[in-house]
Amino acid sequence: MENNKELRTWLDDFKLEHPLVIAGPCSAETEDQVLQIANELKDSDVSIFRAGIWKPRTRPGGFEGVGAIGLKWMQKAKAETGLLMATEVANANHVKLAIEHDIDVLWIGARTAVNPFAIQEIADALEGTDKIILLKNPINPDLSLWIGGLERLYNANIKKLGVIHRGFSTYDKTKYRNNPEWQIAIDMQNRFPDLPLICDPSHITGRRDMIHEVSQQALDMNYDGLIIETHIDPDNAWSDAAQQVTPDDLKKMFVDLKVRKVSD
Ligand code: PEP
Ligand code: MN
Repeated sequence: MENNKELRTWLDDFKLEHPLVIAGPCSAETEDQVLQIANELKDSDVSIFRAGIWKPRTRPGGFEGVGAIGLKWMQKAKAETGLLMATEVANANHVKLAIEHDIDVLWIGARTAVNPFAIQEIADALEGTDKIILLKNPINPDLSLWIGGLERLYNANIKKLGVIHRGFSTYDKTKYRNNPEWQIAIDMQNRFPDLPLICDPSHITGRRDMIHEVSQQALDMNYDGLIIETHIDPDNAWSDAAQQVTPDDLKKMFVDLKVRKVSD
């Protein structure tokens, strides 16, 4: 897969002065929760609303997502707010349901990104789509595996592509939930300079008090966007409670973040 400007065109369509901002809860929980958060995020820097409805949990027993009913709530949120909708897909059936419900952006999570069979199945289901498809880095720090997933999508004639840097698992404890290993994302950026690169400070840090700092680091490195988990009642979120911020906090953070223009 060669680098090419075609990869960038979808991002340019947003006519952004700021980085692309994707925000919304880790998980859709109830219809009211989805609608409230989406309504608080409209008329802000946010262009795309995110919510997971199929949640890949490392261990069984946790909240595994509301399932397909959440797609209906997102359709309603889209009609009410005009925000584009994004959700995670992990297999061909998820892809089919998300497309049937007019989801605009589909992302592939870090646990799926490690599995070439799963990515190929998703790529086949998406063949030729004009949806925006974002591939998170695999949980293990393996640039080739990340690029391999990207190539599978590109070879399926998907051109509105982007990657999300969400950090990498380590057995040793660090101050991060997932160690950023910035160099891997920089290598990806150098290899495909026209491929939109989005930072996920929520899953990198695992803590809301570090989101600002890591977002600023990403902007200083000219990332194209940020995906930030945002909830009306973060402490009581059904997943990833410690890292979610309120819509108000998100808006305040964007007043303070300094965006470096490419020409600086
Ligand atoms: C998520 O975005 O909520 C998620 C499960 O992310 P990741 O695949 O990066 O762990
Ligand atoms: Mn999450």
